[in-house]
Amino acid sequence: MVTNVTEWLDDTAQRFGGKIAICDKEGAMTFADIRDKAFGIADEIIRMGIGHNRPVVVFLEKSAKVLISFMGIAYSRNFYSPVDIDMPDARIEKILEILEPELVITSYALSGQFRQIGYTGKMLIYEDVKPVSGNKAEKVKLAQKQIIDTDLLYVLFTSGSTGIPKGVSITHRSVIDYVEWVTGTFGITENDRFGNQAPFYFDNSILDIYCMLKTGASLYIIPKEMFSQPVMLLEYLKKNKIDTIFWVPSALIMVSRLKAFRDVDLTGVLKRVLFCGEVMPNKQLNIWRKYLPDCVYANLYGPTEITDACTYYIVDREFSDEESLPIGIPMKNTEIMILDENNGLIREPGRAGELCVRGTSLAVGYYNNPEKTREAFVQNPLQRAYEEKIYRTGDIVKYNERYEIIYLSRKDFQIKHLGHRIELGEIETAASSLDEVSMCCCLYDEKKNKIVLFLEKNISKEDLNLKLKELIPEYMLPGKVIYIEELPLNANGKVDRIKLKEYLS
Ligand code: AMP
Repeated sequence: MVTNVTEWLDDTAQRFGGKIAICDKEGAMTFADIRDKAFGIADEIIRMGIGHNRPVVVFLEKSAKVLISFMGIAYSRNFYSPVDIDMPDARIEKILEILEPELVITSYALSGQFRQIGYTGKMLIYEDVKPVSGNKAEKVKLAQKQIIDTDLLYVLFTSGSTGIPKGVSITHRSVIDYVEWVTGTFGITENDRFGNQAPFYFDNSILDIYCMLKTGASLYIIPKEMFSQPVMLLEYLKKNKIDTIFWVPSALIMVSRLKAFRDVDLTGVLKRVLFCGEVMPNKQLNIWRKYLPDCVYANLYGPTEITDACTYYIVDREFSDEESLPIGIPMKNTEIMILDENNGLIREPGRAGELCVRGTSLAVGYYNNPEKTREAFVQNPLQRAYEEKIYRTGDIVKYNERYEIIYLSRKDFQIKHLGHRIELGEIETAASSLDEVSMCCCLYDEKKNKIVLFLEKNISKEDLNLKLKELIPEYMLPGKVIYIEELPLNANGKVDRIKLKEYLS
């Protein structure tokens, strides 16, 4: 039985030592290279007397170095917390206050920036660490043996509504459970190549990183700038024979919207197109499916708090542009409960409720924040005999006639307008199915009681409402349309709703 993820790296380095593990701007590293460097990092951490089950911050630009640091920290029996180097100082300060880390791994180039934030603790400079081979890593191996599967592997920070970041704390066991499901379900092997889009401080990257470490597949870190140049992006996939991608829908839409498939044919190269993180409009997915009909497409759904994803739908039938793509069914070893306002279990199709999750995938809570933990991770209302936590996602969903789960919107995007209960997500789904619209976002202006639709492409408000009228009831039509050259994206690559809210004031 695997009790911690470093056992996967031991195993792949043993079996595929000379094979490419990670490819970034600086070149390629083999599994043996990354294991030895990770041993070196773990050895230093132990030598510095950090102890165990302590947070170690990684402050490095996106590269193989980040992932190797993660593994070094895990080997040393500690847990990692990546901090985005472009994050505003004030937010980094808040994260450091919560974590109280004793150590940060960084580079010569970035160490000054980190000190300026006011960090006075220990630093390990990545470039200074020498690789250590297995036979010289006795202390590391001793530490590794003592890891148990309920120990934390990482803490990822998500934004909190109060402006205080929340550190989602995930154990080795949750990642092992999830990645075993992913690799089994999609048949991932050492012959596969992943094209990584997700930043390593965003939980979508868990799938890429740990599929690579578990199976011996290779991980190509796609340079960020390519995500605004679709033809170059597809050429990169072709040149590097990438067969699997797991991106946020906004990245996939950028490709289909600009019809990059006309210039680069990926037939026979790309095998799996997986996505998660926000709604994937069928109109855009249909373009992907038209040009690459033989790929497996899968819609994964889940928040950071349940280890990346908890439901999935492998696309198995045709959808019209205006239909919603299901988020599907629960992953193995996970139960999804749709609860109504009175905590009653919804079993019948059509009735909306909050998606709640039960299972090994649940985070242990928010680091150093018992209050927020208690709010989101609550006693299962259907179990009174013993303590059992469920996670309340705040997402409103329903079953369709096939008992697949359909995502409707966030709880906070459910509004009351002219007496009607409206899911803003439903308006977005209708608008994104129109030919003239590639990306859109719907917000509610509470001060003016208006539904506001942000659009990238120009279609007059009159035409828009005329077409929308055929898809949604009159009371759901946007009262205001704001045209915007390009919808802003947040650091994770999803549409940035917080930035769009600024237009309402
Ligand atoms: P994050 O914790 O940043 O991964 O964000 C999680 C939230 O993104 C979920 O609670 C949903 O609101 C949204 N989300 C994730 N996956 C999907 C999906 N496949 N379809 C629609 N919304 C999604």
